[in-house]
Amino acid sequence: MSQVSEGQDVDAFLSFYRTYYSDDIARLAQNYPKEQRSLYVEYDDLYTFDPDLAERYLNRPGEMQEIAEEALRTYDLPVDISLGQAHVRMRGLPRENTIDIRGIRVSNDHIGSMVAVQGIVRKATDVRPKITEAAFECQRCGTMTYIPQNDSGFQEPHECQGCERQGPFRVNNNESKFIDSQQLRVQESPEGLRGGETPQSIDVNLEDDICGQVTPGDHVTVVGRLEMEQVTSGQEKTTVFDPYMEGISVVIEDEEFEDMDITDEDKQEILELSTHDDIYEEMVASVAPSIYGYDQEKLSMILQLFSGVTKHLPDGSRIRGDLHMLLIGDPGTGKSQMLSYIRNIAPRSVYTSGKGSSSAGLTAAAVRDDFGDGQQWTLEAGALVLADKGIAAVDELDKMRSEDRSAMHEALEQQQISVSKAGINATLKSRCSLLGAANPKYGRFDQYEPIGEQIDLEPALISRFDLIFTVTDSPDPDHDAKLADHILTTNYAGELNTQRTEMAASNFTQEEVDEVTQEVAPVIDAELLRKYIAYAKRNCYPTMTDEAKAAIREFYVDLRAKGADEDAPVPVTARKLEALVRLSEASARVRLSDTVEEEDATRVIEIVRSCLQDIGVD
Ligand code: ADP
Ligand code: MG
Repeated sequence: MSQVSEGQDVDAFLSFYRTYYSDDIARLAQNYPKEQRSLYVEYDDLYTFDPDLAERYLNRPGEMQEIAEEALRTYDLPVDISLGQAHVRMRGLPRENTIDIRGIRVSNDHIGSMVAVQGIVRKATDVRPKITEAAFECQRCGTMTYIPQNDSGFQEPHECQGCERQGPFRVNNNESKFIDSQQLRVQESPEGLRGGETPQSIDVNLEDDICGQVTPGDHVTVVGRLEMEQVTSGQEKTTVFDPYMEGISVVIEDEEFEDMDITDEDKQEILELSTHDDIYEEMVASVAPSIYGYDQEKLSMILQLFSGVTKHLPDGSRIRGDLHMLLIGDPGTGKSQMLSYIRNIAPRSVYTSGKGSSSAGLTAAAVRDDFGDGQQWTLEAGALVLADKGIAAVDELDKMRSEDRSAMHEALEQQQISVSKAGINATLKSRCSLLGAANPKYGRFDQYEPIGEQIDLEPALISRFDLIFTVTDSPDPDHDAKLADHILTTNYAGELNTQRTEMAASNFTQEEVDEVTQEVAPVIDAELLRKYIAYAKRNCYPTMTDEAKAAIREFYVDLRAKGADEDAPVPVTARKLEALVRLSEASARVRLSDTVEEEDATRVIEIVRSCLQDIGVD
C-alpha cells in the first residue's frame, strides 16, 4: 500500500466534501452548534470517491476521523462560522463489516477497526455530562491548571501552574469542559438465535449529540470502533479483556429489518403448502411433536404465531392484532415443553420464566446497577419489550414479580410500558403476543372452583388473555395408554437406542445422533414454518365476510346471555368479541386467505367455546 501523508488525506477529504457533501455541510453550518453537531457520511459515498481512503477509514477509524474532522474545520463555508467541535460520523457500512456480536474474535482482526453491529438495545444509561478537560483551581493562589481527561480515570495535576505547590485544588465546573455521555448495551436480536442460545451483547459508549436518541427495545445498527477493556476482579487486573465499542453513529432501524430472507423457491413452497386441504392439521402436527395430544392448544399456538391484524382507528386509537394465551394446569403436563418449542417456529421470540432472568424482569425497569459507571440510572428492557413484534413465551407467569404485575396490564393491552422513575420518563414498545403458562396455587387444578381463586394472577390481568386453556392431569386409561405409547416410542424405542449407541460409538455428535433418531419429526420443517409465518404476516391482511361476521355475532350474543350472571368465573366482555375477530383473522392467514370465511369463524368459535367450558362458563 502506498504511503499517504496526513496532509494529503485532509486534501482528499476536502475534495470529497466538495463533490458529495457541500449541501450537507452548508446545512450543518446553519444549525451548528445547537441543533446539529455532526456531519453524517455514507460509507458508500466515500468508497465511490476513493476506495483506498475508505479502506483506511475502516482499518484506522480513530486517526481517519480526526483527519476528516480537520478537513471539515478547514472547509470553506459560505457563512462566517467555525465548525470547531463538529463530528464526522460514518454510517452505512458494507455487509461484510457488519459483524455478529457472538463472532468477535481476536483472529478476525476486528479489534481497533470500524465495524457495525445490529441488535436490540437492552439497556441504556441516563445521559450524563462527562468531563473532558478539568480546570483545577489552586486554593492557595487561585491559578487554574487545565488537565485533559480521558476514560483511563480522573487525572489530577502534580502541581499548580502558578505557585508550583501541590494544591489543594478545587475543580471549577465553569472553566472545565464537559460532553454528554451515555452507555448502551446492544444485544443480538431474538431472530438471530437458534435453538435457545443465550443472546450475547456488547456495550457501546456514546458521546455528545448521539446520546439520548434511542430507547431500550429499539432495533439499531451501531457503527463504532471496536476496542478492548481489561477485566478487573475487585482491585486486581486480570489477563482477560472485554470487547466494547466507541460509538460513531447509531441508526434506529425499522423493526422489520431482520425479517428473514424468503427466496422465490421458499415462496413457491409456501404457496403450495397453503393449498393443502389439511393445512391446519399439518401445522398442528408441526408444533412440539414430542408432546402427545393438545391439538386445540397447538392450533391456538399456531393462530397466535400468525396473529390477527392490528387496527388503527381514525380517532387515533389502536386495537391490537396480537393474541395472548395462557395455559394453566397441573404440573408435569408438558406445558413448559410446549412453550419452549415456540423458539423453533416463531420468526421472533423470547423464552423466559416469570421470575425473570434480568433486573428488568418481564416489562422494564429503571435500575442502578454495575452497568455504566455504577452511578447512573439505567433503563433496561424486559422480555415483553425484547419480544416486540414477536412472541414472548413466559413460563411460570404466576411467579412474576410485583413490579411486573402492575406494568403488565398496560403492556398487554396498550402494548407499551411506561417507566417513570428517578428522572427517567420513557415509553417502551411491547407489541408482542404473550404465551404464558402457570401452575395452580394449590397444586392441582379444580374445574369447579373459579379460576381467579386458583391461580395467582389478578382478574384484570386474566381478562386480557384471548384464550385460557386449563390442563388437568386426571387419570384416563385410554388416554394414558396412548400417551405412554407416544412417549415410549419417541424416547425409549429399543431400535432407536441401539442406533444411538452405535452412532455415539462412531464419533457422531449428540446433535447428529438426535437428528437421525428423531422419530417425531414435525410435518412441516421448522425452518419452512418460520418462513411461512413471516410471509403470511407480511403479505396477508384478511377482511371479514358477512357470513363470518354473522357467525361471530350470534355466538357472542348467546355467550353474553349465558355469562351475564354475577359469579361467572370469567366475565364475558367486549374483549371476547375482539378476541374472536383476531383469532378468525389468524385462521384466515394460515390459508394465506385475504378473507375471513365462515369456516374460520366456526374454527375459532369451537376453540373459544371449549376454553370457556373448561373454566366453567356455559
Ligand atoms: P409442566 O411444565 O406442565 O410442569 P413439563 O413440560 O415440564 O410439564 O413436562 C414434564 C415431562 O413430561 C416432560 O419431559 C414432558 O416431555 C413429559 N410430558 C408431559 N406431558 C406429555 C405429553 N402429553 N406428551 C409427551 N410428553 C409429555
Ligand atoms: Mg413447567
